[in-house]
Amino acid sequence: MYKVGITGGIGSGKTTVCKVFEVLGIPVFYADTVAKEIMVRDELLIEGIKTTFGKESYFEDGKLNNKHIASIVFNNEAELAKLNALVHPAVFRAFDLWEVQISAEVPYTLKEAALLFESESYKMVDTTILVTAPLQIKLDRVVARDGVSAEQVKARMDKQLSDEEKIKMANHFIVNDEEHSIIEQVLALHKVFLNTAINLKL
Ligand code: ATP
Repeated sequence: MYKVGITGGIGSGKTTVCKVFEVLGIPVFYADTVAKEIMVRDELLIEGIKTTFGKESYFEDGKLNNKHIASIVFNNEAELAKLNALVHPAVFRAFDLWEVQISAEVPYTLKEAALLFESESYKMVDTTILVTAPLQIKLDRVVARDGVSAEQVKARMDKQLSDEEKIKMANHFIVNDEEHSIIEQVLALHKVFLNTAINLKL
């Protein structure tokens, strides 16, 4: 199966773009949503988290103790790296399982991940899309969506690679500002991926 990775900074609109691909019948694996799900489902991952961060990482009913984990990894690069080293491979396993369940009729799949380039999961896809938008538009969108301050959004942005870095790594681009139509850009890329996938199957 031909695999396309899609990423973009906070508020760039990558999830919105993925919804357009879904309308075209392309299945999307939402890595960040799956990561949250498997932290309470994947036994291997749960054991790893308990061993690394303590049994108190989970409540008795099996729910994740977010506050405990956050208190350890917040502003601590080394501890955050330990958490990522546990979660990322588990997400890769979940992605592989998801891929094998996709019908052979599907031309290609999309993997959406905020940290596609930071987590090296871009190496597991065949090509990548970067969604970009001007900083002020991204800030306004996330402030409106999450009800947080622009400062809080900026602090989250600082933890990701800059667009300048990601532009060097991406293969395709979607500009999601107020002047470009994302539908037209998605349709153009869809054509490219269909052609590539068909040629690969010939
Ligand atoms: P995050 O990384 O924070 O999850 P994201 O890149 O997935 O963000 P979205 O959730 O798709 O971004 O978009 C952020 C907000 O901006 C959402 O509320 C979405 O509805 C809105 N939005 C995205 N693109 C557009 C657009 N072209 N026009 C208007 N609103 C938009």
